[in-house]
Amino acid sequence: MDLLALPKTELHLHLEGAMPQQTLLQLVHKYGGADEVPDLDALQARFRYRDFAHFIATWVWMVGYLREYEDFRLIATGVAQDLIAQGVRYAELHFSPSDYERHGLRLQPLALAVRAGLDEAVQKLGVTLASRFGLILDLGRDNGPEKGMRWLEEAAEVAAEAGILGIGLGGSEQRFPPEPYQPVYQRAAALGLHRVAHAGEAAGPESMWGTINALGVERIGHGTRAIEDPALLTFLARERIPLEVCLTSNVRTGVLAALHDHPLATYLRAGVPVTLSSDDPAMFGSDIVNEYRQARDVLGLSGDDLIQIARTGIEVAFLSEAERSELLAEFDQVVAGWRSS
Ligand SMILES: [Zn+2]
Repeated sequence: MDLLALPKTELHLHLEGAMPQQTLLQLVHKYGGADEVPDLDALQARFRYRDFAHFIATWVWMVGYLREYEDFRLIATGVAQDLIAQGVRYAELHFSPSDYERHGLRLQPLALAVRAGLDEAVQKLGVTLASRFGLILDLGRDNGPEKGMRWLEEAAEVAAEAGILGIGLGGSEQRFPPEPYQPVYQRAAALGLHRVAHAGEAAGPESMWGTINALGVERIGHGTRAIEDPALLTFLARERIPLEVCLTSNVRTGVLAALHDHPLATYLRAGVPVTLSSDDPAMFGSDIVNEYRQARDVLGLSGDDLIQIARTGIEVAFLSEAERSELLAEFDQVVAGWRSS
């Protein structure tokens, strides 16, 4: 199967973690960090993590080099170009305002700068995908629900213009459980925004139950540790709650000892809706084509499994129904072409 030509989605992708390494290096040098990271080799060495906490610390270091709105426009263009080149037909990009307030940046112009960068890539490449990059506001659980509520209100004011579709919750899952965010998620629902959250990544099934029951999420980021609770797996399958699986990420952040341990195949057989994403591909030395390749080569998934996963990505995306129908029709046409040849 031609994994590049397979029409794919990226529903769990952090803008900052997807920025091309060359672009990051450019920003590091712009802000005087060249002594610490003189070249790409040094940058890649910086991107090896001892554990999840070390990964978060590295993230904080990295985003310290995003200081002007122009930087966000630049990285958004780079990320969008990479995605289009990998056969991604639709992506939802998480962005995190929390790290940038110390540089005096405000959420609204930041989101609009990201949108401008995405539009620029679309224009540059001459493709008509302008509506096919959505944004997810990642509140970052380390920041607390009060800040989260403020960012939500600010984001809602520019949601239409910037293409902000919903909210998410990344960060230190073990230290910050989901329940305190219930009012923020209820407010997001009232504003007509979608709701996702990371869960079952660094913490266990109890964190996933809390995310489902308290936050009412429509999809869960990762869900790697749902395998520890058979009742949870049954629930996810019955209620059709999708998991945004990110294989390489789970190994690189130390959630799994080896990729072979990932329960993706079990989830598929149990009827849980699963999608594949790359999370922070530039920080993990991966991309979405590689994620599908790993699922096939390491986890033994069949071509039909991969097709089902890619199609699920369109089915559970936060697209309008018209956009979804259009994308599904295109997807089915590609697959039918493969089957008849
Ligand atoms: Zn993530």
